[in-house]
Amino acid sequence: MTSDQLFPVDQSFAQSASLLAESTASDKPEEACGVFGVFAPEEDVATLTYFGLYALQHRGQESAGIATFDGDRVRLHKEMGLVSQVFSEPVLSKLTGTMAIGHTRYSTTGSSRVVNAQPAVVETRLGNLALAHNGNLVNAPDLREDLLKSNFTLLTTTDSEMIALAIAEEVNNGKGWLEGAISAFHRCQGAFSLTIGTPTGMMGVRDPNGIRPLVIGTLPQAKPTDSLRYVLASETCGLDIIGADYVRDVEPGELVWITEEGLASFHWTKETTPKLCIFEMIYFARPDSVMQAESLYSYRMRIGRRLAIESPIDADIVIAVPDSGIPAAIGYSQASGIPYAEGLIKNRYVGRTFIQPTQTMRESGIKMKLNPLKDVLAGKRVILVDDSIVRGTTSRKIVKALRDAGATEVHMRVSSPPVTHPCFYGIDTDNQDQLIAATKDVAEIADQIGVDSLSYLTWEGMLDETRHDPNNFCSACFTGDYPVPVPEPVKRSKLRLEAIAPLETVTTG
Ligand code: SF4
Repeated sequence: MTSDQLFPVDQSFAQSASLLAESTASDKPEEACGVFGVFAPEEDVATLTYFGLYALQHRGQESAGIATFDGDRVRLHKEMGLVSQVFSEPVLSKLTGTMAIGHTRYSTTGSSRVVNAQPAVVETRLGNLALAHNGNLVNAPDLREDLLKSNFTLLTTTDSEMIALAIAEEVNNGKGWLEGAISAFHRCQGAFSLTIGTPTGMMGVRDPNGIRPLVIGTLPQAKPTDSLRYVLASETCGLDIIGADYVRDVEPGELVWITEEGLASFHWTKETTPKLCIFEMIYFARPDSVMQAESLYSYRMRIGRRLAIESPIDADIVIAVPDSGIPAAIGYSQASGIPYAEGLIKNRYVGRTFIQPTQTMRESGIKMKLNPLKDVLAGKRVILVDDSIVRGTTSRKIVKALRDAGATEVHMRVSSPPVTHPCFYGIDTDNQDQLIAATKDVAEIADQIGVDSLSYLTWEGMLDETRHDPNNFCSACFTGDYPVPVPEPVKRSKLRLEAIAPLETVTTG
């Protein structure tokens, strides 16, 4: 790749802003990443990718990038910031080509720096490849060691670059794109949903457990004789925004290869066991995205209904922690017969800012994100529904705000079980010692967050309501039963409360 083909990366956003204010910082697991890909000769692939990433913005707000392919030429633009901050019309107009790979990132490995933004572009014997990754490799330290032994220079601290370099190594040793990629995937353990661009075609790939989602769509044909134009996205909301039709999911352990000839499917491993992240269903993915053959709004309403049946309580109104608690609160209201009301108003224009709140604002408990509605809450016994509690810090502030607004009782209902274990597959759920349910029982948590009563959805209820085989989901953050074994050094980094075998050798990476 020559430098004139690679758009310069502006470092000005490198000192990424923290969340808007520490008092309103998310007390939720942070999303993984959003990946996107479009193969559509004669379309404006960069603009299609821009809108696809725009719809996937909830999956990562630290950086965004697009790489376009025009034969052998790759054009790349990536920066820190939101999709709308990173791209402008002049930038997109320079990203010409017949295929594009896009990424929006929340850092689960590697620090929040522009060099770690994706897509990762690397040179190979057969030309450049651009790779966008959602997930997390649990064997990244070992893979890094292997690549360093092979004299690769790692420019970033991400496992995503390691996957790209592993493919490059296989290709440089004489393999073709597909053979080389498949060999590289066998060297990866953990969660990886990938979109990969090459000069000859685009790949969509999922790990053998399909932990992170990835869907295939097609763009409408202008003429019946036109060849199909394909789109890959983390979620179906990334297809909807550009008018693409959902075709199907990429299956666990599948590689789809999209070229001018169409889409070819390869099952790159026979060792597949579906383990979709249940937290995608509960919280991460957008409620209008379709997973397991229905919108997540429907699933979330159903678990709210289940919660009402499992944990009834007499009260005057049901309110949600917006936005993610709304479908479950509506379900709770429907099943209990207790009216649903809006008790907390969310400032929908809050995003990341580069301005920190003043100390006075912090101390007075700023309400930049959520503001209670006194008229609705005063004198009421309130059921507050949220999708999860991670650290409990935000819940405590919300409960206090409801009481300050006049609520006479606050009963919290949570539409997932207690989060007791960290995630190693691409979701930032904090270290175990920061998870409130890892060290406290339900009564102690209720006391800490200041509610009159607290109940969680049961693990069985969460899985039953998927209406699918419960074995097809990862729910390790509720059980500690990790579907992909996590090596001891990696476990040690986050599992701080459990007895872990003494470490004899430490692999640094
Ligand atoms: S551990 Fe939890 S957050 Fe991580 S993949 Fe499994 S269910 Fe999802």
